[in-house]
Amino acid sequence: MDIIDHESNEKTYTNYMKYEHGITKTGWIIFVFLILEDVLVRLFVVKQPSDLSNIIFQGLLLSIYIILSIFKVSHAKNTSTNQKRKIFDLIKVFEIITIVTLISTMYHGVFFHFVALLPITFISLTKGFRKAIPYILLSFAFQMVANLVASTLLQGNMENNINGVPFVIISIVQYLLFVLFCYIWSGIYNEYVRSEEENNILIDRLGDKYVQLEQAKKEIQSHYDKLIKSSNQLEETNSRLTASLAEFYTLQQISQAITSIFDMNELLKFVNDVIIGVMGVSHSTIALCYGPQNKLKVQVSSIFDKKDLAIVSDFINCDILKPSTEGGHSMIDNAVTEEDYPFTRGRNIKAMICVPLLAKGKTLGIVLIEHSFKDAFDDENMRLLEVISQQVSIAIENARLYQQMHDLATLDGLTGAYNRLYFNDKLQEEFKNAQAKGHDLSFIIFDIDHFKKFNDTYGHLFGDLVLKTLSSYIMKTLRKEDIYARYGGEEFVILMPYTTLEQAKEKAEDLRMGVSQLNITDRVVSASVTISVGVSTYPETAGRAQELISTADDALYEAKHAGRNLVRVAKPRN
Ligand code: GH3
Ligand code: MG
Ligand code: MG
Repeated sequence: MDIIDHESNEKTYTNYMKYEHGITKTGWIIFVFLILEDVLVRLFVVKQPSDLSNIIFQGLLLSIYIILSIFKVSHAKNTSTNQKRKIFDLIKVFEIITIVTLISTMYHGVFFHFVALLPITFISLTKGFRKAIPYILLSFAFQMVANLVASTLLQGNMENNINGVPFVIISIVQYLLFVLFCYIWSGIYNEYVRSEEENNILIDRLGDKYVQLEQAKKEIQSHYDKLIKSSNQLEETNSRLTASLAEFYTLQQISQAITSIFDMNELLKFVNDVIIGVMGVSHSTIALCYGPQNKLKVQVSSIFDKKDLAIVSDFINCDILKPSTEGGHSMIDNAVTEEDYPFTRGRNIKAMICVPLLAKGKTLGIVLIEHSFKDAFDDENMRLLEVISQQVSIAIENARLYQQMHDLATLDGLTGAYNRLYFNDKLQEEFKNAQAKGHDLSFIIFDIDHFKKFNDTYGHLFGDLVLKTLSSYIMKTLRKEDIYARYGGEEFVILMPYTTLEQAKEKAEDLRMGVSQLNITDRVVSASVTISVGVSTYPETAGRAQELISTADDALYEAKHAGRNLVRVAKPRN
C-alpha cells in the first residue's frame, strides 16, 4: 500500500520488537520447563536417566539462547533501521539453530518442534508469510541434521518407535501443518495490522484535519469579526447616508417649493410642514420682522389653539430670543421652562431650537421648533434647521426683491397708482373677461382742471402733493377689483369690472365731489382742486376695449367744454 511509508514501517518494526521481546522471555520459561520435562521423562517414564553431560549441554544451549536474545533486544534499540534489520535477521538464524539443537537433545524432541517454530510464527505474523519461509526451511533442515547428529551422538535420546523414517514423516507433517497455520494467521494478522495502520493513518489525517479545521475555525472567526466590524461601519455609514439623503430630499423639496410657490405665505406654510415632518417636532413656527423696529410677527405656525397662538404672538419678541432675533445666532435649549420662555406657557414644551432667517446680515425673521421631550434636540438638528433657514431666507429675500421689481414695473413712483403700461394690459385682460362672461365693464377717466395754472401758482412740488393726496383718497374709495392708473401727467383712469354705466356714473359723481372737497395742505399752503370726468361702459357705450377709452375721453372733453368740475357719460352705441 502506498500510504504505508518509511515511518509506518518503522512503527511496524517497533511493534514487532515489542512482541519479540515478550516471545523471547516466554521462550526462556518454556525451555526451562522442557529441560525439566526431559529429565523427568528419562527418570520416571523411560527409566533411562539422562547423563549429566546431556543436561549441561542443554543448559549451555539455553544460556546461548538467552544471551542471543538479550543481545538481539539491546541491539535493536541502538542501531539504525536498515542495519538493525540485517543483524536482527542474523541473530534470528542463530536463535533457531540454538532452539532446534536444544529440542533435538530431548527424548520427546519430535513433539516439541512446534516450540522451535513459535518465534517464526511471529515473523510470519509481523513481516509476512513469505519472509517466514526461509526461517521455516532453515528450521526444518537443521532439525533433520540436528536430530541425526543427536540420535547418533546421544544414544537413547529418541524414542525408538519414532526414529528414522517415521520421524521424518512426522516432522514433515508437523512442518506442513505449521506452514498452513502461518499462512492463515499471517493473512489474518496482516489484514488486522493493515487496517490498524490505515486506522492510524486515518486518525493522523483526522488529527491533521482537526488542526486544519481549528485553524479554519479561527480564520472564519476572525473573518466573521472583521465582517461584523465592517457591517457595523456600513450600518453607521448607511444611517449617515440616509440622514444626508433625507436632508438632501428635504432641501430639494424646499427649493422646488421656492421655485413653484409664488405666494410667500403659502411657501412658508409648506416649509413649516416640511420641518415638522422631517424633524419630528411638536411645533414649528415661522415669524417675520416687520416695521421700523423690526418686530417679529408670527407668519405661520403648527399651533392651532388660538389661545396658545396668541401667547406665542405676544411673547415672540421676548428677551430670551434676542440672541437670535437681534444677534443673528442660532439657539438650542434642551431644558426649557415656562419662566424662561414665556411663549411656551401652557404647552408643556421642554426643548427648543431658534434659528434666525438672515439675508445680507439682516434678520428677516426666525424659525422656532419646539419639542415636548427634554433633550430632544442635538447639534445635528440645529445644523439641518440652519440649512433650511438659509434656503427660506433666500426665498423671502427673493420674494421681496421680486415685489420691489414688480412695483417698479407696474406702479407709478409718485402716486402709487398703476402705470399706463400695466393698465393697458389689464384693460385687455378685463375686457376679454367681460366679453366672455357677458358682464359690464366701466371705464372712468378724469383730468385735473386748470392744473397748469395751479402749478404756476403754488409751485410744481405742491402740484405733486396734490397728485399724491388725490390718488391716495381715490384708492381708498375703490373696491379691490377696481384698477386705478395714472394715464398721463394729471390724467387718471379707473377700470371697474362688473359695473354698469349707471353705477359708474354715480361713482364718478362721488369722486368728483369728494375731490373737490379735499383740502390739500403743506406747511404754508392750503388749496383744493376739481376734476372733470368722462365715463363709458362696455357694452352700452363701447364695443371694444379701445372704444372704452376714446368714448370716455370724448365725454371728458365734453365736461371740460361744459365748464369743468363735471361728469359726462359717453353716448350710447347705435
Ligand atoms: P385743463 O383744465 O384744460 O386740463 O387745463 P390744464 O391746465 O390742466 O391743462 P393741461 O391738462 O394741458 O395741463 C397739464 C399740466 O399738468 C401740465 C403740467 O404742468 C401739469 N403736470 C403734468 N404732470 C405733472 C406732474 O407730475 N406734477 C406736476 N406738479 N404737474 C404736472
Ligand atoms: Mg388738466
Ligand atoms: Mg391734462
